[in-house]
Amino acid sequence: MNINLVPMPNEIYTDYKLFFRKSIMENVSVEYDSKYSAEEYSITIDEKGAKIKCSSKAGENYAVQTLKQLEFSYAGNIPYLKIKDKPAFSYRGFMIDCSRHFFSVEELKKIIDAASLFKFNRFHWHLTDDQGWRMEIKKYPLLTEKGSKREFSNFGRYFNKNSHEGFYTQSQMKEIVEYCRKKSIEVIPEIEMPGHTSACLHAYPRLSCTAKEIPVRTHAGIFKDILCAGKEEVYEFLFDILEEIALIFPSEYVHIGGDEAPKDRWMECPHCKQKLESLGLKDYEQLQGYMLNRIHEYLQKKGKKAITWNESLRGKNLEKGITVQNWREKNDECSIRASVGGKIVVSDFFHYYLDYPLGMTPLKKTYMYNPVPAVLPESLRKNILGVEATIWTEFIENIDNMSMMSFPRLAAVAETGWTQKEDKSYIDFKHRLIQVLPMIKKIGLKYPDPSQWDPNFFKSIIQVLKFVNNMYNKETLRAGKQ
Ligand SMILES: [Zn+2]
Repeated sequence: MNINLVPMPNEIYTDYKLFFRKSIMENVSVEYDSKYSAEEYSITIDEKGAKIKCSSKAGENYAVQTLKQLEFSYAGNIPYLKIKDKPAFSYRGFMIDCSRHFFSVEELKKIIDAASLFKFNRFHWHLTDDQGWRMEIKKYPLLTEKGSKREFSNFGRYFNKNSHEGFYTQSQMKEIVEYCRKKSIEVIPEIEMPGHTSACLHAYPRLSCTAKEIPVRTHAGIFKDILCAGKEEVYEFLFDILEEIALIFPSEYVHIGGDEAPKDRWMECPHCKQKLESLGLKDYEQLQGYMLNRIHEYLQKKGKKAITWNESLRGKNLEKGITVQNWREKNDECSIRASVGGKIVVSDFFHYYLDYPLGMTPLKKTYMYNPVPAVLPESLRKNILGVEATIWTEFIENIDNMSMMSFPRLAAVAETGWTQKEDKSYIDFKHRLIQVLPMIKKIGLKYPDPSQWDPNFFKSIIQVLKFVNNMYNKETLRAGKQ
């Protein structure tokens, strides 16, 4: 049935014979019923208005979003209908990288508002990286005093000679947490370790293997200076930070990074070598596994769980209780993990990385992607917790640009996360989205014209060439050698 809702509800019935003529939002009643599951809701619209049934605030919020979309398309003319609805996946996330470029609390709230419209329930907040440390930690003030500033930005086409800086105070982070809580969105903070830590090491050089001075990075890349896994003070430092984080973020999860960490320095470090030998580990990938397992154990004492990027599977000793976010490992790796009960969140690089142009990842490609590996038996599907779209910001320097890159594809990830696979249809989705997406204009966000959502072959080639050409410059190419 073609009614303008995104994501498409599980069940919807209307015969379009009778219509509600008044404002639906002013005629809503809510009844809590424990028979409904946590995120489930139903809506009945008749002459009395809209009646929502659910068992939680989350269910109520999703029902309200559905009503807002109906009012937007059919104000004063909403057909009497019945909807029964619940999500396909329990984890429906979006990630914003606030390290490569800093975004204000007010700007983040706009993206959160738009994500909530499409029933996302996790905001993964990438707060630390090589190009800037963005969270206030009271015990280690240099992290923000020194680590939140870089001299200039040299991300290829976005060369900017001005210095770039910014961080969130603890009270601002609490404000975001509370803002999201009201929308049934959990905020998952990410603290990168052991790699992507140049900004942290700029503030506290003694935490690396060599203890040498390094700058907050001004360009993208994978850097060899990472946190030392052999020095005990590194673990104490991380525990202290996580202790403060646990007081700010009530989330079930904390993301602890684990991606793109070259082992060059560890292999030459007496502390790391000693740690590896004393633990009887096979190689330095296992040392990373040990490090992250220890952090996970600490988080568990705080009632939390860790998520890491998929590279952490390489040592083959990652604790089963750690959830893995899969961005580019072969699906087999994650299928194996899921087949022994490990939990996976899917953020496939070729489909869910929204910082790449539509010419490379058109809307249809994002929409059609099935996050459940084909080899995974139906009985193990539950170990795929869900989906997450990532918005990396090396090439996104302002909110308009972020919005133009995020939409319409964020809505496609939302529908994959919510709607049952057998109920999905791309043509139908695109038609509905064209009607619904103008709602984000009210929030102050922009999106490309629908004629650009699936560029033709020639436009795609031009966009891809332009993007790749702009990614690289002399400094970026040199970065690999550092
Ligand atoms: Zn070391």
